Amino acid sequence: MKIANKQISAVSLVKEAFEKARQFAKYNVFVSLADEEKALKKAEEIDKKIATGEEVGPLAGVPYALKDNFLSKEGNTTASAKILEPFHSPIDSTTVKKLEEAGAIMIGRTNLDAFAQGSSTENSYFGPSHNAKDFDRVPGGSSGGSAAAVALDIVEFATGTDTGGSIRQPASFNGVYGFKPTYGTISRYGVVAMASSTDCIGFFTKNAEDMDLLMSICAGQDEKDLTTLPSFYNHEEQKYFVPEIAPKSAKIGIIKDFRNDSIDPEVQRVLDSQVEKLKSAGHQIVELDMPTLKYALAVYYIVVPAEVASNLSRYDGIRYGYRSEHAKNLSEVFGFSRNEGFMPENKRRIMIGNFVLSSGFYDAYFKKAEQARTLIIEEYQKAFEKCDYLLTPVSPSPAFKLGEKVSDPVAMYFEDVMSVPINLAGLPSLAYPAGESQDTKMPIGLQLIGQRRSDKSILDFAKYLAKELN
Ligand code: GLN
Repeated sequence: MKIANKQISAVSLVKEAFEKARQFAKYNVFVSLADEEKALKKAEEIDKKIATGEEVGPLAGVPYALKDNFLSKEGNTTASAKILEPFHSPIDSTTVKKLEEAGAIMIGRTNLDAFAQGSSTENSYFGPSHNAKDFDRVPGGSSGGSAAAVALDIVEFATGTDTGGSIRQPASFNGVYGFKPTYGTISRYGVVAMASSTDCIGFFTKNAEDMDLLMSICAGQDEKDLTTLPSFYNHEEQKYFVPEIAPKSAKIGIIKDFRNDSIDPEVQRVLDSQVEKLKSAGHQIVELDMPTLKYALAVYYIVVPAEVASNLSRYDGIRYGYRSEHAKNLSEVFGFSRNEGFMPENKRRIMIGNFVLSSGFYDAYFKKAEQARTLIIEEYQKAFEKCDYLLTPVSPSPAFKLGEKVSDPVAMYFEDVMSVPINLAGLPSLAYPAGESQDTKMPIGLQLIGQRRSDKSILDFAKYLAKELN
């Protein structure tokens, strides 16, 4: 991000980003492109300021892509769902506001699984996006458009949301960095809600340095989101939460329970080789038993649909976007609009969510799941008494073929087996490119997980890994 030192003009960068977006149109990365004239005008103003020595923000003139579940006054927000069409937001989300204040320029809104529900970006009303490295494969999901936009080098960074892996898995599938911060680090205000107790805002970048910069700009308490934590990211006090560690002597935890037959051998090989590198650089590897993690996927697919059912109840054919033309009375307005406006996966979750919350089933499913969630949280706390970071795969396999899993929801849910426990526990986790599959050459990411509020320390460790180890 080197505009302020005049190596390159903002106008030429923004122009190039729009050109590339058009050049890669067949990847279906964008739901809509921003108003090019307006974007260029913003860039011109930044170039003028730089020329006259005026102060500019830390992201001055940097083109970025916005996952289309962030509200912005520019253009329409769709969340890749028909039921929001057309929805023009009267407000900017806090993240958009902060990015724009820092000088970043939005190029387009990226495709996602409708309402961020999915692991492949195939559940989009606008059709699937494609993997940046192999057109026949999925880019991962739900933030597949954002990950591919960065991997195709259309933009410097993109926003994402991660409720159960939607930043980390597409980052891993496309060979870029994807960060899910500690729950509550970045405001969720103005982001279309999926599951409010695990939704997190984060980014895709090409390196850990840019991620650090974006975090320092966007993290912080927001009176409009009461779950945001008091600012810690930029504060020295963060050290209080982070074990005092020099990167040279870190203790890295490896989860034994994740070593099993359902993991693609290539993913295991990349993890093993990273572990060997860490060992020979003098780090300590700690093998951990974490038996409750095997319940995480089941817990997630009870808790999240319950919250989804509640959050999606506001789309009634009246207050937002789409209304069915076939409805003849009020009940049909609700029923037909929801039936025609939601994607099948949205409906599946609404059904499951209402089921697990209904009287008679609440105790057996939702309450049990929340109790198991507490055990998962405690298991991580115990793990971090023995190590500084955990290192695990992001998902069991590299990017799969388009169409391979879309009609098998359980196979698709299994994609999330190693990402969702982290959301249930609210922990920070960075997916970083760690290798590739030998036969298909598809990228394979690993995730570096820390305890709550160790976000900066994770990114610092990732900078070190990129410089010294990989
Ligand atoms: N793939 C997961 C799901 O479908 C995660 C989605 C997300 O993080 N938004 O629930």
